[in-house]
Amino acid sequence: MTTHLPDPQWSEAAALCPACGYSLTGLAFPVTCPECGQLHTGRQFIVHGVPSIRSATKPWRLAAIIILCTGSFCLLQALGFFLAMNLGWLFLFIIGTLILATIALIVTGGRGRNGSKCRMIFVDRGVYLTPLKIDAAKEISADQGFIRFSGDERATLTPVGTAWAHLRLARPDGTVPFRAGIRCPRERADELLATIDELIRGRSANATGAPPTA
Ligand SMILES: [Zn+2]
Repeated sequence: MTTHLPDPQWSEAAALCPACGYSLTGLAFPVTCPECGQLHTGRQFIVHGVPSIRSATKPWRLAAIIILCTGSFCLLQALGFFLAMNLGWLFLFIIGTLILATIALIVTGGRGRNGSKCRMIFVDRGVYLTPLKIDAAKEISADQGFIRFSGDERATLTPVGTAWAHLRLARPDGTVPFRAGIRCPRERADELLATIDELIRGRSANATGAPPTA
């Protein structure tokens, strides 16, 4: 991880509605999103890193892989027929294509799972994921772009080296709605954990005065 990403920081000027992506630039806070009605206090805690996206293997991809594997298997049963018809070359061609297609589906499916550096915008009761590279935007679908917290998640932060940490949110039932490797200097880990914990429970909206500084 040689690229330098910004350290976690508060942003007073929310650029985007975390719920729908609508631009809030120029609006005074607190504001209700004109597009979706979500209330914004204007405070966003911005963290950079690489989130783990849920259900990286999309259902259609999984179905295609299964169909291709089944097809290859059925074709193998017909090997004798192809040989009898003196069409061994055709058999090799078809099975080669099927295997290559299967490998391509598996390889391209895995790439988006953990790859893209994102800006993670923590707001009250949710986190908004924005890929830093435009061409990575397609890896995060609309339903994955915003992860809403139920408020009972417990955040844990495990420092990795001096500048990175592994953030994990777990619900009481054991599910993990959010995981990410994030840019976080070791000395700020406690502060960051407290901030995220506060946002999970949606308490920052009631906070008075200036946001906490390091
Ligand atoms: Zn909105």
